[in-house]
Amino acid sequence: MPEHFPVNGGERVFAERRREMVRELRRKGIGNERVLDAMERVERHRFVDAESAPYAYEDSAYPIGHGQTISQPYTVAYMTTLLLERCSPPGKVLEIGTGSGYQAAVLDALGFMVYSVERIPALHVRAVRLFQDLGIAVSCRLGDGSLGWEEEAPFDGIVVTAAAPHCPEQLLRQLAPGGCLVIPVGEQGMQQMTVYRRSEGGFEKELFHHFAFVPLIGREGWN
Ligand code: SAH
Repeated sequence: MPEHFPVNGGERVFAERRREMVRELRRKGIGNERVLDAMERVERHRFVDAESAPYAYEDSAYPIGHGQTISQPYTVAYMTTLLLERCSPPGKVLEIGTGSGYQAAVLDALGFMVYSVERIPALHVRAVRLFQDLGIAVSCRLGDGSLGWEEEAPFDGIVVTAAAPHCPEQLLRQLAPGGCLVIPVGEQGMQQMTVYRRSEGGFEKELFHHFAFVPLIGREGWN
């Protein structure tokens, strides 16, 4: 091997790109140090297809097969910040839409106990294997996440990474007291990031920026 091509040189390049990604997230307004630190540690290039790996640290979404995408780093940072500002590790967090597994890995890196549901079998199996290979302790389930994960409820936080036509009732019911749900709600193609927090009297709702997610498909999602 030539001298200028050291073993693990690729990993060093990826680490530098991760730092650049974090600088870009900062420029775009992400200021939560714990979120930025977690995203500097999680190796996003492991969660994308081989063709996308060289670009894994650009602030873009990429196809992961089956018509689905890995979320853009900015979107992951944004949702994770909304969660972390309202709920501290080591709480129990449920993610709906495992997809590539990247968002779940970021939540794990923050110290949450992470549960994740995916409806597409091939994506579920691939994420389970990847978590095993990387030694990441995320509990995964195959099924319709619009109904939550009843057996593991209540959750301190729930993050939905697919677009919902309305807020699924079951997810609200599975929140612990003080727990919060972060979910993009709206039409296909454009949704508003929405946070519900369980308080003594009921639920408080807050609205944030607009995003475009792939649809949440299921009983409490799109058909
Ligand atoms: N969090 C993922 C984002 C993947 S895109 C990541 O970091 O890569 C959204 C995912 O939600 C897709 O994989 C899609 O199959 C899944 N999904 C859509 N509807 C779902 C449902 N009802 N239950 C579980 N997963 C669902």
